[in-house]
Amino acid sequence: MAEKGAEKKKKRVVVVGGGIAGSLLCKTLHKHRHFDFTLIDSKEYLEITWAKLRSMVEPSFAKRSVINHHEYLPGASIITSDAIGIDEEGQVSTTEGRQISFDYLVIATGHMGNCCETKSERLRQFEADYEKIKSSDSILIVGGGPTGVELAGEIVVDFPAKKVKLVHRGSRLLEFIGETAGKKALDWLTARKVEVVLGQSVDFDSSSDGAYLTSNGETITADCHFKCTSEPIGSSWLKETTLNDSLDDSGRLMVDANLRVKGFDNIFAIGDVTDVPELKQGYLAHRHALVVANNLKLLIEGGNESKMVKYTPASPMAIVSLGRRDALAHIRCVTMIGRIPGMLKSKDLFVGKTRKQLGLQGNPKHLNSFPCKTDSISRFNGI
Ligand SMILES: Cc1cc2nc3c(=O)[nH]c(=O)nc-3n(C[C@H](O)[C@H](O)[C@H](O)COP(=O)(O)OP(=O)(O)OC[C@H]3O[C@@H](n4cnc5c(N)ncnc54)[C@H](O)[C@@H]3O)c2cc1C
Repeated sequence: MAEKGAEKKKKRVVVVGGGIAGSLLCKTLHKHRHFDFTLIDSKEYLEITWAKLRSMVEPSFAKRSVINHHEYLPGASIITSDAIGIDEEGQVSTTEGRQISFDYLVIATGHMGNCCETKSERLRQFEADYEKIKSSDSILIVGGGPTGVELAGEIVVDFPAKKVKLVHRGSRLLEFIGETAGKKALDWLTARKVEVVLGQSVDFDSSSDGAYLTSNGETITADCHFKCTSEPIGSSWLKETTLNDSLDDSGRLMVDANLRVKGFDNIFAIGDVTDVPELKQGYLAHRHALVVANNLKLLIEGGNESKMVKYTPASPMAIVSLGRRDALAHIRCVTMIGRIPGMLKSKDLFVGKTRKQLGLQGNPKHLNSFPCKTDSISRFNGI
């Protein structure tokens, strides 16, 4: 029977992964009277991933998009460490040797993070990327997905004199969305003198600084390079745990419609680590977080499991920024490029909106890199 009112013992919720999904989930659970939650994250901060490429050409932009977990979760229990195990007694173990018990566990380990554990290291890394771009005449970008295309867009807009080459192993850019999107992005980049090489990869083992060997034996010369290929899914640590059998062949956690890991009543998964059949996107990771927050509240308050919220996979929608003013939007089957989609994303990259969702000021004066009005952007429902 459900425990009542003030007598109710707080339930221990452990959230592993403080990225886009985990951070919003924790914010939603923070200070809720029925939860006692702990966040375990490899790093001490949340990084708003879609601001990363702007921060490489304008490092001060990262002061708003790299946010220490304690800023939006004051007083919360936060452990900066890798989770390495889950045992059958309901405990998560970490690299620093801690065992944290849970009544409910949420896995939100999307992708393996970058190497920086602290916010100050991450800000320094953006400074170093900026110096690298500034001091190079020619730049090689490897990967023609959204990250590579957005980085090329940022560089050609802020540094139009640089020679930018983009090498992509696929037959077209932006393969995660429709063909027209790839064609429009290619036209936009080539109109700004980006040299795009399709159907080839770069063999880094046989390359040296300045000379890069491609899969068909050509050598590309460039002063520096940036690798923009996809990061591994953050689920390898689960292979040695009770959740191993819940991983599909591509290493994603299989979840049911309530976002519970298949076969477990008290373990949920959210964000990119799940096998939900939809594009892996931050705004969808946010939706997962809100569904699971609701379901946890219902379970903890003794509600009927049949009343849990079900998640419906979303139709494809993506906005790829192209520098500070333009963008490419792909919404269902419609593709648009230029200033209009750019007005939705490219100025502030939804940083103000994301900060507000975490209860922070969108554009605090002391962190201002440029004055920006975010209210009109925040009405848009995507990221
Ligand atoms: C450059 C770039 C641009 C993007 N642009 C957009 C965009 O414009 N719009 C959009 O909707 N989406 C965008 N995305 C996609 C979006 O960032 C992801 O869908 C989103 O980050 C997924 O959130 P997540 O919480 O599942 O995973 P992540 O944000 O990857 O967070 C995972 C967290 O788990 C931590 N972690 C991993 N393993 C462990 C472990 N063993 N123990 C403890 N912690 C661990 C990591 O450090 C990290 O903090 C972009 C992604 C990138 C890389």
